[in-house]
Amino acid sequence: MTCIVQKFGGTSVADVEHIKNVARRVKEEVDRGNQVAVIVSAMTGVTNELVKYCREMSHFHDAREYDVVVSTGEQVTIGLLTMALHDIEISARSWTGWQIPIMTDGAHSKARIENINIKKLKKCMADGQVAVIAGFQGLAPNNRIATLGRGGSDTSAVSLAAALKADRCDIYTDVDGVYTTDPSIVPTARKLDKITYEEMLEMASLGAKVLQTRSVEMAMKHNVRLQVRSSFSNESGTFVCSEEEIMEKEVISGIAYSRDEAKLTLVGVKDSPGVSATIFGLLADENINVDMIVQDVSENGEITNMTFTVTKADFGRTINILKDNHDKIGYINLITDENVVKVSVVGVGMRSHCGVALTMFQALAEKGINIQVISTSEIKISVLISEEYTELALRALHTAYNMDDKKT
Ligand code: ADP
Ligand code: ASP
Ligand code: MG
Repeated sequence: MTCIVQKFGGTSVADVEHIKNVARRVKEEVDRGNQVAVIVSAMTGVTNELVKYCREMSHFHDAREYDVVVSTGEQVTIGLLTMALHDIEISARSWTGWQIPIMTDGAHSKARIENINIKKLKKCMADGQVAVIAGFQGLAPNNRIATLGRGGSDTSAVSLAAALKADRCDIYTDVDGVYTTDPSIVPTARKLDKITYEEMLEMASLGAKVLQTRSVEMAMKHNVRLQVRSSFSNESGTFVCSEEEIMEKEVISGIAYSRDEAKLTLVGVKDSPGVSATIFGLLADENINVDMIVQDVSENGEITNMTFTVTKADFGRTINILKDNHDKIGYINLITDENVVKVSVVGVGMRSHCGVALTMFQALAEKGINIQVISTSEIKISVLISEEYTELALRALHTAYNMDDKKT
């Protein structure tokens, strides 16, 4: 019997009418004779509201209690969807993360799934009951509720599909697939029929929030057949699959952006061995991840400048660490800028084509957009630019790589 995992995001379960629509989509799969497990998110906006309550209550709240609060949104949705299924005569029951249990590590608020005990679920599903499961949550080793980081229901769905060895994992959302870039910003963005796991992983980690990065990692590791599709239409969506399954490879598959960057420049650091190790060692000790790094060529061989980026959440802490360690690092001045965005072009075809970076640099130059930092890997090129140019840059690059949908 075919086993399907369906996941419905916040906008798909936005209110009672939307939840009834989801129930109908679940019924379609049941009517086809499939065993179905459904993962749901909280209703749109609910998790934001819960996070806000935590911040208002206490600036330095306990992450374990944060998880107790923010996991509640999904519990509401599983109950409501199960009621909607009963109303259309589908046998179903709701499951919270701890009831299954979905076991995680102890990293509260950003936990990783370690194991899913599918025994009880499998039995119910084999008896013809739809399992309606709360996304985003699990049970930590300390026997307390843990959440998986924002957007984590995608990871709940893919992990469950891997554990159940499901034939498909369908991620239902408010767009009908993965686009060449965020369609809410670039109206000429094109839907992709297929994208490789590797490209999707880069797109997600570089800011395309249509799938949580960890969910793609998990799909790639366990070879989960993953489809992103719309809750509101019957069109087929985008398949995330291995490179061998894609006949015609584009040089560039997509463009992603992330506003979650902040830039810091240490002016006048010593140009001698060990300086980078000191700076980044101090940050690593505080669990601060550094993303892009560039060190200027020193003019006199004595002093140079070091520029790097961190997430906006770590920005304030990074400034404090650098200031507190002024004498240890030894620098003249610290310049900071939060109004930056990282724009990245992604494509496996980059491995075998040259001139890809040049196209990017020329397109940005033609629009008068200054590049502040560049970083590359085998299948992506990222640039840091001023945030005010985000839309202009995305549209210019989309056109420069001939990605525009000719129909729009
Ligand atoms: P859900 O609530 O269903 O999990 P999300 O809001 O997390 O949905 O993700 C869907 C959104 O991702 C879309 O509305 C779209 O604006 C955004 N997005 C960003 N980049 C892309 C992309 N390349 N393709 C499709 N959607 C994208
Ligand atoms: N409700 C959670 C969030 O908004 C998880 C999810 O929707 O994937 O981040
Ligand atoms: Mg999401």
